[in-house]
Amino acid sequence: MSLRPRARIHLSNIVSNWRRINDMSGYDGAGAVVKANAYGHGASKVSSALAKAGCRHFFVAYGFEGGEVRRAVGLDSHIYVFNGLQAVSQEEIRTSSLIPVLNNLNDIGEWKAGDQASPFALHFDTGMNRLGIPLADVGAVIEILSGATPSLIMTHFACADEPASEMNREQIEAFRTVVATFPGAPVSVSNSAGLWLEPDMRPGLTRPGIALYGGGNSPLRPGNLLPGMTLEAPILQVQQVPAGKSVGYGASYRASAARTIATVGIGYGDGLLRSASNSGFACLGGVRCPLVGRVSMDLVTVDVTAVEPLAKPGAWVELLGAQTDLEEQARAAGTLGYELVTGLGTRVERIYEE
Ligand SMILES: *Cc1c(COP(=O)(O)O)cnc(C)c1O
Repeated sequence: MSLRPRARIHLSNIVSNWRRINDMSGYDGAGAVVKANAYGHGASKVSSALAKAGCRHFFVAYGFEGGEVRRAVGLDSHIYVFNGLQAVSQEEIRTSSLIPVLNNLNDIGEWKAGDQASPFALHFDTGMNRLGIPLADVGAVIEILSGATPSLIMTHFACADEPASEMNREQIEAFRTVVATFPGAPVSVSNSAGLWLEPDMRPGLTRPGIALYGGGNSPLRPGNLLPGMTLEAPILQVQQVPAGKSVGYGASYRASAARTIATVGIGYGDGLLRSASNSGFACLGGVRCPLVGRVSMDLVTVDVTAVEPLAKPGAWVELLGAQTDLEEQARAAGTLGYELVTGLGTRVERIYEE
């Protein structure tokens, strides 16, 4: 046998999530954020499946990611590179027909010095204070562009996952003043969390990432947004641990009664966070079993007492999927679903299911 952790990637679930989000987006529909290897799901397979379903706008962070997406989708799709002209070369822009997102006056100056016929997008910072053109520079931008029309103008919410936050409305109002200075340019505002705000808060093309993969704060999930992957790992060994004995490094777990413990072949070297020690969970035969003891590099120990007859070497336990909700598992490790899926390592075999 040659068992290793595996992520079964449910392309049809990702497509179904995109369709659902595309339907609830306005006239401009939904794009797809496929940066970080499509949040760990595999950028080429995911982009190709979404392009076949009708998605025509893809977003990545780097030029090399854009190149991978371009090889997977047709030339009628737009691929935008969020991280600006430091993150994408002129050569990548040309050969893969990428659209750089210009984030500051440096980027805009550089664009101006190059081939001004090539398309570009503009990202305005309306309150995040992270990346994007500060509102104070809008006048200078218009002057430098001298009439050139962006393919897309965008902004990004800081607090979209808190629908009651004042900041959402403040950002949209600030963005409207910018939009008014670029008549006719397509706009894009909403990430996944923004999808659940009022429709007037998410004008234009939407930019869902985590929601496509079944995570995030959506009121539709779990249930209507389907998991993008099922992460599984094999049981390698099963042992009976008597009352009073400990499990794993640091003896951080001690059995209060006799327990059956399965040692499972996945660890922090694969992206199962060490902070899930004694707090995360796994499913065996549909039954939730606690992770006990420390997560180590290649192994984790699971209390399978409740499903002892199923706990055999070679049996698969689920760490993420329909029975082990991504965001719940992430919370148990003190983080978000984003970090879990993007952190899955190369030892995790990706198996694609149409
Ligand atoms: C990553 C990213 C997104 C997607 O965010 P989700 O929360 O995953 O939907 C959208 N817009 C920008 C600018 C991003 O960097």
